[in-house]
Amino acid sequence: MGIRSPSQPSDADSISKEICHENGEPAAILDSYSAWLAKHPSALDTFDRMVAAAKGKKIVVFLDYDGTLSPIVEDPDKAFMSDTMRMAVHEVAHFFPTAIVSGRCLDKVSRFVQLKNVVYAGSHGMDISTPAGSLKQNNPKHETRTVDEQGNEVVHFQPAQEFLPQIQEDINTLQEMVNSIVEAYPNFRISGGKKVMEIRPCIDWDKGRALEYLLDTFGFNNASDFLPLYIGDDKTDEDAFKVIRHMGRGYPIIVSSVPRETKALYSLRDPDELLSIIGSNKCNCTTVDPMTDCNCGTIPQLQHSFAP
Ligand SMILES: [Mg+2]
Repeated sequence: MGIRSPSQPSDADSISKEICHENGEPAAILDSYSAWLAKHPSALDTFDRMVAAAKGKKIVVFLDYDGTLSPIVEDPDKAFMSDTMRMAVHEVAHFFPTAIVSGRCLDKVSRFVQLKNVVYAGSHGMDISTPAGSLKQNNPKHETRTVDEQGNEVVHFQPAQEFLPQIQEDINTLQEMVNSIVEAYPNFRISGGKKVMEIRPCIDWDKGRALEYLLDTFGFNNASDFLPLYIGDDKTDEDAFKVIRHMGRGYPIIVSSVPRETKALYSLRDPDELLSIIGSNKCNCTTVDPMTDCNCGTIPQLQHSFAP
């Protein structure tokens, strides 16, 4: 997908028409989306303003996975990101510290993304893996040094580590309870495999706290020249949006094609629009030097515009 020029439609009207066309919804829904978009402008349409405000700042990128890098699909095990998106994220991470923050477990999200130059934060930020030695700060609390499958030293940060045995015990107990109940209903059976219940420990930790931890480990805890860009579509991403707004710097961007209550300041309609921002080969400039401004008249890609 190529990057869209400013003249191509991305405004509320075009989106609203599509909603109307696709769902046959009444005009009231179109109006509500337009009103919502006015409060949470498209990051595509405001990209130039973002670039201007980011001059001289260090961009740090946080990306949710499902619904942000990958489409939402019926079977979560098939929520694959496209190779084009993977290449785009790889390129973004080449220029900026980049973290994938997902509700999925660490193993699963890293297997879906398959990139080595990003940091992964799984289980809503409760399980963070960073390459040992690559980060500027140490936070020994809840950190474990270990070696990954490739033999590289990594640091695992797990603020809820002490709850893990209890969670496993509770899952087993819960499964036994469900099994015993279902036994009484011969017309029903339990299909194995997927966990459809999520048990979270009652600790003060969420994606917002994970964002703060990652900024700290990236070395930006005392810096005044960084700008976090967080893009996500989950309710749990709201915690990160809130932190960014509290910081008074950066871009909290929600991915949503329908009006939603959110703390995000900007919006993107779907993963395709995200790709329009972070995708490669989007402008017609012959230069590949990220230090050089794009002059071709298209909206410059993220890395082309923000790279230091
Ligand atoms: Mg998501």
